[in-house]
Amino acid sequence: MKLVRLIANLGYGSRKQVALMFREGRVTDPAGDVLYADDKVEHAGIRIDGEPLDPPAGLVIALHKPVGYTCSTRDPGRIIYDLLPPRFRHRSPLMSPVGRLDRDTTGLLLMTDDGALLHRIIAPKSNLSKVYEASLTQDLRGDEAALFASGTLMLESEKTPLAPAVLEVLDPRHARLTLTEGRYHQVRRMFAATGNHVEALHRSRIGGLGLDGLAAGEWRSLDAADLGILF
Ligand code: URA
Repeated sequence: MKLVRLIANLGYGSRKQVALMFREGRVTDPAGDVLYADDKVEHAGIRIDGEPLDPPAGLVIALHKPVGYTCSTRDPGRIIYDLLPPRFRHRSPLMSPVGRLDRDTTGLLLMTDDGALLHRIIAPKSNLSKVYEASLTQDLRGDEAALFASGTLMLESEKTPLAPAVLEVLDPRHARLTLTEGRYHQVRRMFAATGNHVEALHRSRIGGLGLDGLAAGEWRSLDAADLGILF
């Protein structure tokens, strides 16, 4: 693939803008020697403003989503893409969230441009656990853990009962909930089904992967070792 097209596909700019980057000498090899648009160079041998290029495909990131951001590409309010380099919104294929968190939910959100990986993570048969910490407006009744574990709880307008989920009571108004599926507003609706209301919700883990020190709004790229921990 021609260098201009390769770099433009990674979201660094339109082909015209990338061609200008070459003319400005911003595209170099690792030693800092200027590259030209018709050079034949491997992906790993290209730097832009001294920085290595993002991976060509199969980019996976972990984002610590703060409160108030929607998992959408278009929204009049703040969106998760505002927290990432602008080029991530222009990559082809697009970096998509792997499942969604509500605007007011915080915590671990994965994003990738790899459709097969995305489906592998969200497919019901992946059985990947997601751990949520919920703050509630009412004291827990005491029967929630048994109800959530029963595999019989039906949410309104759903056709099948929820898969068994594990509830750990942290104190009367705080609980940790481990799910293996991801239905719409699932945690909030599960507590609503018990007459409670979720005041704050945080996802702390997906599979074996946690936030590992990422502060709200920060992100990092995941490598093969992280994906090994995830599954
Ligand atoms: N369940 C919810 O209700 N909201 C989320 O954001 C995630 C899971």
